[in-house]
Amino acid sequence: MAQVKMKNVVKQFSEKLVLDNINIDIADKELVVFVGPSGCGKSTAMRCVAGLEEVTSGVVYIDEKVVNTVPAKDRDIAMVFQNYALYPHMNVRDNIGFGLKARKILVDKDDPKAVPRKLRHAEVEAKVQRAAEILKIPDLLERKPSELSGGQQQRVAMGRAIVREPKVFLMDEPLSNLDAKLRAHMRTELKRLQIELGVTTIYVTHDQAEAMTLGDRIACMNDGIFQQIGTPEEVYDKPVNKFVAGFIGSPSMNFISGKLEGDTFVTSAFSLDLPTDMATKVIKNATNPDEVVLGIRPEDIEDREFALNPSSANTVSVKVMVRENYGSDIFLAVNVDSIDFNARVNTGTKARVGTDFDLVFDMSRIHIFDGSTEENLTI
Ligand code: ADP
Ligand code: MG
Repeated sequence: MAQVKMKNVVKQFSEKLVLDNINIDIADKELVVFVGPSGCGKSTAMRCVAGLEEVTSGVVYIDEKVVNTVPAKDRDIAMVFQNYALYPHMNVRDNIGFGLKARKILVDKDDPKAVPRKLRHAEVEAKVQRAAEILKIPDLLERKPSELSGGQQQRVAMGRAIVREPKVFLMDEPLSNLDAKLRAHMRTELKRLQIELGVTTIYVTHDQAEAMTLGDRIACMNDGIFQQIGTPEEVYDKPVNKFVAGFIGSPSMNFISGKLEGDTFVTSAFSLDLPTDMATKVIKNATNPDEVVLGIRPEDIEDREFALNPSSANTVSVKVMVRENYGSDIFLAVNVDSIDFNARVNTGTKARVGTDFDLVFDMSRIHIFDGSTEENLTI
C-alpha cells in the first residue's frame, strides 16, 4: 500500500518538453486517472513513476521514499498495458505465475529482517489460484492465450499484476483493444477489483468517459501540464478552463463567443441575462469583457415547452438543423445567424428539422471563459 507523489516533474526528450512541471499527490488506495488527448504526455508521466523513463528534473516518491534512482524492477509496481504481451506458448497458469517464479521476492513485507527469496512451487500455485478466482477465470488456467477472448486475455494480464501484490498498479490504456461493450463491462470489473484489492492505482486513458466512471480523481492533461486535478464531479461541474470544459463530457460543451454588456451576454444573434453575482465576477476578472466565451453543456439547454423557468432573458430562437433520437432524449443541432450549437432535450419535443424553434438556457449552469486566457471566470 502506498502513496505516490510527483513533484515539479519535468521530462524533456532532447529539445522537446513533454512534461512541463507536473505535480500530483496520490493517496493510498486511490485510483487516479490521467486523461487527455493523444500525445499530451500521459504515458510519459506514468512511465516516470514506473521508472521506465528518467525524469529530467523533479522528484518522484513512492510511499514517501524518493525513487528517482531506483530501477523499475525495484519500485514494487505492476504495470498493465493495452498490449497484454502474454507468452503464447505458455498456458494461463504459467503466464500469471511466470513473474513470481523468475525472481526473488520479499515474501513477508512486514518482517524487517526478511530477505527476498524465490517462492516455492506451492506458494506460486496458491497465489495464481487466488488471482484466478478474483478475476473469475479459474476454469481457464490450462488454456493457451490463443484460446482466449480479448476480455479473457486482459484478465490474464491483470492476473499477472495482481499476483505480484505490488504497492502500485500502473495501467496504460489497458482496455483500448476491447470492443465498446466489453470495455464498459471490464471497466466495472476493474473498479470492483481495485476497491477489493485496495491498491493505489494510476490509470491512463484518452477516453473521458472511462476517466469519469473509474477515477476517484481525474488528472486532466494537455500539453504536458495537468490542467485540473479533481473528482469527476469537480472537473465536470467546475472546469478550470476551456480545455477541460471541452474535453470532459459527451457530447461536448458548446462554446459561443460574445461580449458582456452589464449583466447581459451579447452575440450578433441573441442576448442572455447572467445571474448578477456571476456577471460581477466575470467583469472583475475578464481580460476584456468584449471578448468572452459562453460555455453550456447540451444537457443544460431545454425545449422551451419543457423548461422550468422560461423567459425572454434565457430563450434563444434557432433553426433546427439535425434531430437525432437517442431514446432517452433527443439531440438537436441548431443554428442561429452564424452560431451553431447542440442541445439534448426532452423526448416530447416538437422540434423538427428545418423549423424555427425556441430553446431555453439554464443560466445557473453556464460558464464564461476569458477570450484570451481561456480561464473559467465563473468558478
Ligand atoms: P500520450 O500517452 O498522452 O499519448 P506520450 O506520453 O506517449 O503521450 O507522448 C508525449 C509526447 O512525447 C509525444 O509527442 C511523443 O511523441 C513524445 N515522446 C514519447 N516518448 C518519446 C521518446 N522516447 N523519445 C522522444 N519523444 C517521445
Ligand atoms: Mg499513451
